[in-house]
Amino acid sequence: MKKGIDIGGTFIKVLWEDGKKEKHYIKDLKKDREALMEKIREVIKAGNPSGVGIAVAGFTSLNGIVYKSPNIPALDKTDFRKVLEDINIPFVVGNDVNLGAFGEWYYDYRDSKILLLVAVGTGLGTGLVYKGEVFFGVCGSALEMGHHTVKKGGELCNCGRKGCWEAYCSSYAIEREYKKLTGRTLKDYEIAEKAKEGEEEALKVVESFKDYLITGLMNGVHIFNPDRIVLAGGVIETFKEFLRDVPEKVKEISEELPALCLKISFSRAGEFMGARGALAYALKYL
Ligand SMILES: [Zn+2]
Repeated sequence: MKKGIDIGGTFIKVLWEDGKKEKHYIKDLKKDREALMEKIREVIKAGNPSGVGIAVAGFTSLNGIVYKSPNIPALDKTDFRKVLEDINIPFVVGNDVNLGAFGEWYYDYRDSKILLLVAVGTGLGTGLVYKGEVFFGVCGSALEMGHHTVKKGGELCNCGRKGCWEAYCSSYAIEREYKKLTGRTLKDYEIAEKAKEGEEEALKVVESFKDYLITGLMNGVHIFNPDRIVLAGGVIETFKEFLRDVPEKVKEISEELPALCLKISFSRAGEFMGARGALAYALKYL
């Protein structure tokens, strides 16, 4: 039986072909490269799978090298061919949102010709499936829309650049804007609670986030002319009740022609979006 695993900043999430799910806490291993690699090897081998799809948050090449993982620096320069060379299990590796997009197509939207997945969490990742194939680019790093510049010289992004879309659309962007307005340091889900209670500052922050989200999605519509955009990720889930009208707003401000054939929906995969994509990819290609 095959499984998909998603290596994130806090957990390794596992989804088996029969639907069984697991979560392994790794936050305390994040700075210890040796311990993290041992844990990854252990999770991959467990249950003796016939193949494993591995989704990683970060810039990941098609031959399985993680070049840079802004949220899990211990993974930088990891070559999965070396990490797994003595483990006799076939595997595929890819960026979590690229594979996540494949999972959306594979499980929910097989009729889509161009599917764009936009996942907002700690960072902002996007992935694209064109006629049933992930669009990886030449080296595997395509669709880093989170790092397209929406404001020259703007806020600092986790990638080190300024003014990226992610710097305005991510949990840390929301937390930064809230701190600017109130002087208080709260987590994104606490800010969501404040907004639900009607707190003016929290609502302002949500409006600003939403505005940047809609603008970036419009960019995606104009660049790719997709027939399906799927919204996913922890921040989308946390603020969902404020985002219900995002699909119609994006269509309103986009050009008429690409808006005509566009549908926008919220992912059904929840927090296992990356693991599900990795599993789908393993099922198709291993
Ligand atoms: Zn960036």
